[in-house]
Amino acid sequence: MFGDTQQREKKCGFCNEEVSKADEMIVERKPVHKNCFKCGVCGKECKVGQSLAQQIPEYGWFFFCFDHRLLSPGEKVEGIKAKGYQKKAASKK
Ligand SMILES: [Zn+2]
Ligand SMILES: [Zn+2]
Repeated sequence: MFGDTQQREKKCGFCNEEVSKADEMIVERKPVHKNCFKCGVCGKECKVGQSLAQQIPEYGWFFFCFDHRLLSPGEKVEGIKAKGYQKKAASKK
């Protein structure tokens, strides 16, 4: 079948874990877990086309629901922190 180089397994654009077909949805052309597609501030499920994917410095990619996508970056970081998300280690693999 495919060579090893094709084995670029799908990783969730949000949590970086492998995504199975059943659990996958494509957001901003990236595969993400259905479970991961939720607002970083309120945890509500996001809807495609009505949410925003945004890279938050030091925290990585987050989605924001319709209500929270227009918050200022500072407010987003506060919301993310309040949800208990940790900063990502700066080390690259
Ligand atoms: Zn995920
Ligand atoms: Zn929200």
